[in-house]
Amino acid sequence: MPSVKLKAINKSFGQRQVLQHIDMDVGDGEFVVVVGPSGCGKSTLLRIVAGLESPTSGELWFDDRLVTQVPAHARNIGMVFQNYALYPHMTVFDNLAFGMAARKTAPSEIKHRIDEVAQLLEIEPLLHIRPGALSGGQRQRVAVGRALVRSPFAFLMDEPLSNLDALLRERMRVELRRLHDRMRIPTLYVTHDQTEAMTMADRMVVMRNGRILQLGRPEELYHRPSTVFVAQFLGSPPMNLVSVKVLPDKRVALAGKDPQGIPIPARIREQIGGRNVVWLGFRPERVVPQTHGAVEGLDFTATVHTVETLGARYHVHGTWGESPITWVTTEREGLTGSIKMKLTVPWDRVHWFDAATEERMVSPDRESIPVQVGGTL
Ligand code: ADP
Ligand code: MG
Repeated sequence: MPSVKLKAINKSFGQRQVLQHIDMDVGDGEFVVVVGPSGCGKSTLLRIVAGLESPTSGELWFDDRLVTQVPAHARNIGMVFQNYALYPHMTVFDNLAFGMAARKTAPSEIKHRIDEVAQLLEIEPLLHIRPGALSGGQRQRVAVGRALVRSPFAFLMDEPLSNLDALLRERMRVELRRLHDRMRIPTLYVTHDQTEAMTMADRMVVMRNGRILQLGRPEELYHRPSTVFVAQFLGSPPMNLVSVKVLPDKRVALAGKDPQGIPIPARIREQIGGRNVVWLGFRPERVVPQTHGAVEGLDFTATVHTVETLGARYHVHGTWGESPITWVTTEREGLTGSIKMKLTVPWDRVHWFDAATEERMVSPDRESIPVQVGGTL
């Protein structure tokens, strides 16, 4: 049974609808990440679950309890915000104790609980220091500790790592996920960072303009994006997209000069149906050098423009016809500006989207997708 369930949640501020028919849940012990661009409604969604905003319509359930009308303080939620909101004039211990003291918890119980949480988060040496003297990572841990001491029913986190530098963010993301794996407190985590979402989530929800575009395991969304937006939002460098004309026989052609066109498999041609123009997409890491007939796929010749060195791999930026494309390789050899390269993308790694609706066309059951490995990390 899901722990937190949102049913047909709508939210308007005045005339402006910022959440539209949100249906989702967080399962028992699950870590669900909501990701989307700034302004798409992520914080509003989280604030509704916390009880800091009321939905205009819809229902919110915690286990079998309808909590839509329950005030925030009675929901037993642990919340972590981007700015941590620690009290600067109080020690870490007092910051952690504040909520419990306000609820008249016995001092011995408060001390016991704080010791437990401090040990778990490895912040015991910090208990008598004020937040001003802590590093960003330490403050982050204290903020998590403060949400944790109350043994919350669920955790809500709103971009908790956004104020940290890149290196610390990567470390804290592993730390938070490990903490979750030990505590198994249902968590709803909001971020605008697709890498954070992909690496931390059991399941993720991609939002845009107040709507859920797609919901599923990170691998599912990555390998089978339902729309052009999801396809380009997840993954770095983003998925290549090339607009192609559909020719009457089993071929497609690039915009501009492409008299011969490209032959495509019959099953893909069937699913394109009567459309005249479609998007063809492929991920940079699925492009391989053409070795004759080795892989059945989309064969094309690209011109190399620039090569970015990343250490373990190279990002090659070039063009296919008039379309800019990027691909990833581990071999630098022979890659110099303006050379032409013959490349292939296996057919089951090519994505097809309707040009008007930007929705995926080729049915999922024909596409390969990695099976789920184990449960969580
Ligand atoms: P996100 O967290 O994804 O960046 P928000 O949930 O903060 O997005 O905001 C979604 C939209 O709702 C934005 O356009 C924002 O301006 C608007 N909004 C948020 N809170 C309020 C409010 N209290 N009153 C009016 N508009 C708001
Ligand atoms: Mg926000």
